[in-house]
Amino acid sequence: MTIEAGKVVSLEYVLTNPKGEELDRSKDGHPLVYLHGAHNIVPGLEAALVGKATGDEVSVKVPPAQGYGEKRKIKPQRVLRSHFPAEAEIKKGARFLMADPEGRPFPIYVVKVMGKEVHITPEHPLAGVTLCFEVKVGEIRDATDEEKAHGHPHGPGGHHHHDEEE
Ligand code: ZN
Repeated sequence: MTIEAGKVVSLEYVLTNPKGEELDRSKDGHPLVYLHGAHNIVPGLEAALVGKATGDEVSVKVPPAQGYGEKRKIKPQRVLRSHFPAEAEIKKGARFLMADPEGRPFPIYVVKVMGKEVHITPEHPLAGVTLCFEVKVGEIRDATDEEKAHGHPHGPGGHHHHDEEE
């Protein structure tokens, strides 16, 4: 079986920037599980994985336009800490969902915390960064109809709860 739209794929990965500094990696024994063709991962990585099989190792350099987008240098907005859930961990790079005037969720990221004020931006922390992925392909299986309808995998390693994205 090879990777194409409608497959649920497990990946072990290490993500670095072009200087070789590590930005992220999958946890040992907990691969990233995603639904191919559903925009669960950045477009440049998704495209590089088409046709790959279990055990394949893929090394791919993804430019910002195929990653988290170009840096737009949006001026951060200030909001009060009290607008966030009391139990939330507010720190640089933390991601939260806010609702637009129509109630649609969109992500925002914490830039910094200044006393009672939190500076936020809609821009992903990795916007403008060329992403260097070292990926090893794990299990590949057919997605269920429910997973296809939701646009993400369920079960171990997938989404266990839907309060965030649906
Ligand atoms: Zn779901």
